[in-house]
Amino acid sequence: MNSTALTDIQKTQLSKLEKRLRHNVGQAIAEYNMIEDGDKIMVCLSGGKDSYALLSILMKLKESAPINFELIAVNLDQKQPGFPEHILPQYLDTLGIEYHIVEEDTYAIVKDKIPEGKTTCSLCSRLRRAVLYKTAKNLGATKIALGHHRDDMIETLMLNMFYGGKMKAMPAKLVSDNGEHVVIRPLAFCKESELIYYGELKQFPIIPCNLCGSQPNMQRQNIKRMLNDWNEQSPGRIESMFTAMRNIVPSHLCDSNLFDFKSIDSSSGVINGGDVAFDESEINNSFNNSTKHNNELNVIEVK
Ligand code: SF4
Repeated sequence: MNSTALTDIQKTQLSKLEKRLRHNVGQAIAEYNMIEDGDKIMVCLSGGKDSYALLSILMKLKESAPINFELIAVNLDQKQPGFPEHILPQYLDTLGIEYHIVEEDTYAIVKDKIPEGKTTCSLCSRLRRAVLYKTAKNLGATKIALGHHRDDMIETLMLNMFYGGKMKAMPAKLVSDNGEHVVIRPLAFCKESELIYYGELKQFPIIPCNLCGSQPNMQRQNIKRMLNDWNEQSPGRIESMFTAMRNIVPSHLCDSNLFDFKSIDSSSGVINGGDVAFDESEINNSFNNSTKHNNELNVIEVK
């Protein structure tokens, strides 16, 4: 594996960035109680920057964690044409961690079932999930860790709002759709831009994700572009959106299953600040406060 030596500046940047990512991952783990003593965590490794970063940061955290937990890296080789099967084993051997490469020709199934030119991602992901769940069961894993990050979660929220009529994002921790596994997303508080830079500095041996020949999900790409444009015009916008996802006020939305609007009467008192949410100054102040708070968290800028 070829790697280029880092300059002193890059080494300093890497150390600061790694510290911040570790802090963010530690914060998410604590907030959602993602990892407990005795856990056996199956870390899903796709060969993309996010899952490499996830494994690397979890390994670092394990060194200093006050609890004991195991990490097992798992990659699913879906038999896509041109998949460089030597890359992950070569990399994982250098880490000295238990790993498994599971071979399942889901590519052939997808090609067989989906007509040429149609999107293959939905069936492909379903098959991949099924294989990963089976593997977790065989390994006796108590949790499955996935490499989705903060920006994936915000994009999913927007996708669901624009195309699904639901205010729903990607859960930081939840039970899998077959009801058997706890799925965790320890990168929930990490920014994609920082994971990209981390991947560059760490020189992860990235495996391209377009080997299957499928088009990227255009809706997600459009949302990503829209969010990045907004953020360029008004820096802090994405930050504020994620803060909002952790600060939900059901009484000021419209879901009567989530909040008992029917029982409100004049004796209910002021609920969550009362009816002031449309006041311009209120919104500006809360936005400024949230960006100020986030800026304080991000004092060590690396890029
Ligand atoms: S891009 Fe290819 S490998 Fe990825 S989910 Fe879609 S079909 Fe599967």
